[in-house]
Amino acid sequence: MEGTKIAKRFEGKVAIVTASTQGIGFTIAERLGLEGASVVISSRKQKNVDEAVEKLKSRIEVLGVVCHLSNAQQRKNLIDKTIQKYGKIDVVVSNAATNPSVDSILQTQESVLDKLWDINVKSSILILKDAGPHMSKGSSVVIISSIAGYHPPASMAMYGVTKTALLGLTKALAAEMAPNTRVNCVAPGFVPTHFASFITENDALRKEVEGRTMLNRLGTTQDMAAATAFLASDDASYITGETLVVAGGTPSRL
Ligand code: NAP
Repeated sequence: MEGTKIAKRFEGKVAIVTASTQGIGFTIAERLGLEGASVVISSRKQKNVDEAVEKLKSRIEVLGVVCHLSNAQQRKNLIDKTIQKYGKIDVVVSNAATNPSVDSILQTQESVLDKLWDINVKSSILILKDAGPHMSKGSSVVIISSIAGYHPPASMAMYGVTKTALLGLTKALAAEMAPNTRVNCVAPGFVPTHFASFITENDALRKEVEGRTMLNRLGTTQDMAAATAFLASDDASYITGETLVVAGGTPSRL
């Protein structure tokens, strides 16, 4: 993104991006920061948080906090540290997910079903429960779902179902948090990050996924960051409860 001229839609704003020390979350944090936000990044491992802060701190205002999204104390600490340093929260991007199994749904162990629900759905609710009281008029939430939420693929069916749940959660929370806070969702197509490496590092599979797009390529973390920044910004001030599919034309819905 260096050298590219971008808008400054988040000057004076404070943004929390969860699961943001690499991949899509990292680039969203970077983008919001370059557009003027003070950004709070987090993930499970202190080392990853420190390294990500190091990469960003010369270019943006950034605070790093360790936060495993399924840990109540660490979620509270993330919000407390944000308020202590910046005094408010304007944007929350809920980006964490796990995909621990390739089993079919009926073969998935109960403990794995619980983990998928905990990280992919429940943590989005619980972090907003903590952040909500600090969010005022004009604030905004973006939840990161997936193209897999529209057609859960066999190899990651239950993961896909949790992502379908986020589409519903977006609608329900948009009504609940209105009129002060808008809630929208981004559904990315495949992006070559660590998370998707099992697909994108396999040449045949990668070509098949690319072939399902109209634009004949995978997504980039920058594609996802641009869509997220739009929805989080005042440019989208009359948009709430919506999901933006950012998947190069991969079939999703009418
Ligand atoms: P990624 O590159 O693997 O990055 C994942 C990030 O999340 C890391 O910073 C990791 O750091 C952190 N993390 C993982 N589990 C966490 C937890 N329980 N609590 C807090 N932080 C956690 O993943 P990604 O591809 O950017 O995926 C980000 C989001 O995009 C996910 O919601 C995913 O479902 C969605 N998505 C991705 C794709 C794709 O093709 N990549 C497609 C559709 C949707 P630590 O290891 O330090 O915790």
